[in-house]
Amino acid sequence: MEVSNVHFSRRFLREEVLPTPFCPGCGNGTIANAFLKAVMDLGHEDLSKFAFVSGIGCGAWIVSPHFRADTLHTTHGRAIAFATGLKLAQPEQKVVVISGDGDLAAIGGNHLIHAARRNLDMTVICVNNWIYAMTGGQVGPTTFTGDRTSTTPFGNPERPFDLSRLVTAAGANYVARWTTAHPVQMSRAIKTALIRRGFSFVEVLAQCPTAYGRRTESGGPVVMLEWLKKLPVRKKDASIECKTPTRDEMDLGVFADRNDPTFSDSLSEIVSDIED
Ligand code: SF4
Repeated sequence: MEVSNVHFSRRFLREEVLPTPFCPGCGNGTIANAFLKAVMDLGHEDLSKFAFVSGIGCGAWIVSPHFRADTLHTTHGRAIAFATGLKLAQPEQKVVVISGDGDLAAIGGNHLIHAARRNLDMTVICVNNWIYAMTGGQVGPTTFTGDRTSTTPFGNPERPFDLSRLVTAAGANYVARWTTAHPVQMSRAIKTALIRRGFSFVEVLAQCPTAYGRRTESGGPVVMLEWLKKLPVRKKDASIECKTPTRDEMDLGVFADRNDPTFSDSLSEIVSDIED
């Protein structure tokens, strides 16, 4: 069901904190817009059925303080740990984590893979801008090999994670990767993720012209969006072969789309066996 666009900002955003603190040309606004479009397409009049959790970083600011909703702005790397407790205590709430790649995949890396392995009922939107943006442009687990950052001034010697493949292999029910240059596809993927039971993960490749663009000489927001627009899209049901992401070879699309039993299903089964 489509909901009218009237009073969009008043229903979904805290107007008192607008405009946002994001740099001009940042991709975070596009992600917020795509997320709220998905929520509206699902027929929600507001965000009262959701509980949002974020960690530390620019991506974490998308929901907190901007969304007019219950939000937990937690410690660095621990968003999924907080979200797990929240979901178990309030199983009727739709729990959504929105945070960055440094927060979710480095400091919070173990929480991410184990939440996917458990197939916990929650949606995670990972804003991947290939760097620790807010804390000073340090190298992260998704930074491309050779990139110059504040902590790798002569080039990054490490290989980056392919987050969508990692989370798929760990056992999530739904995994998709899009970019801020694909807002329609991104919003559709978020919509699917929000209605899918179990662990759903949408990785959004997003331009950070300030911390990543300047340090790696990747250009301004327009140049970065042109780069993202050219990334290859996977064929439906193509095999998930392992490959190290490069600037030109991060494939987009759906990586996992299944309905395996969730953590809540398994837990309820055990509890009902004990009660019998
Ligand atoms: S530092 Fe990068 S990610 Fe953070 S607000 Fe600025 S452009 Fe966006």
